[in-house]
Amino acid sequence: MTFFISFLIFYAFHTLGITLGYHRLLSHRSLRVPKWLEYFIVAGGYLALEGSPIFWVTTHRLHHRYSDHPGDPHSPHDGLWHAFIAWMWKPKVIITAQQSRKNGPDLYRDPVYKFLHCHHTHWDGILCLGISVVYRVIIYGLFGPIVLAANLLATLMAFVGPLLVNSFSHLRRFGYESYKCGDDSRNVWFVALLSLGEGWHNNHHAFPQSARHGLKPLEIDATWLAINFLGSIGLARDVRMPHSPCRLALPQMGEENKTAVVATESSVGK
Ligand SMILES: [Zn+2]
Ligand SMILES: [Zn+2]
Repeated sequence: MTFFISFLIFYAFHTLGITLGYHRLLSHRSLRVPKWLEYFIVAGGYLALEGSPIFWVTTHRLHHRYSDHPGDPHSPHDGLWHAFIAWMWKPKVIITAQQSRKNGPDLYRDPVYKFLHCHHTHWDGILCLGISVVYRVIIYGLFGPIVLAANLLATLMAFVGPLLVNSFSHLRRFGYESYKCGDDSRNVWFVALLSLGEGWHNNHHAFPQSARHGLKPLEIDATWLAINFLGSIGLARDVRMPHSPCRLALPQMGEENKTAVVATESSVGK
């Protein structure tokens, strides 16, 4: 029982840290929360070994800009293994320090994210690993081996979620497409289940700034439910909904927006 409850708590903390924190809050600014809460949510992703938030966000913004076209850091067009995980150590797209600043100026204004980025060096990964190890030593010291084991399993599952989104949710043989976005993004139920709603990825590519990714009744989006809860207790504001199509995405990136494609609705809402 201890294992199960601990697992659920850690799974929510680490997965929402990635989906709600790194992705919907930082990458797309789909909502706003108080700064202390933003740091707490993002900490869940950081401690799930997601690394520098600036690196994550700037990589992800490039993915949206060039989705499944040359310049996409992790498209299955370069191989499924590459899209799943190999892009991390064998990148086909190198982001320079200058490009990083250009793609994430909002994050560079935050001293915490700037510190964790370690001046765009590989120290960011070493720092993240070090802090994550210390965090788990503390868990072990305070709660013992069963809770630590629950944490490790939850971390592994949280870590795999975005890898599945990057690979299986961009494979035409899986899931379905609700919107024509000019890329291979798909809505895949089993990815959505594991990643708390991020698998409704075609919807997300159609409306990148929307805080809600699951749009049909059966497209369960647990991250959206969490956002809804935060809104109901007054902790989330400026929550964006899927009204603006993808050409309006990433306003902070300037001229490059012109390359974004326009979504055309094909089924949802009919
Ligand atoms: Zn994508
Ligand atoms: Zn995104």
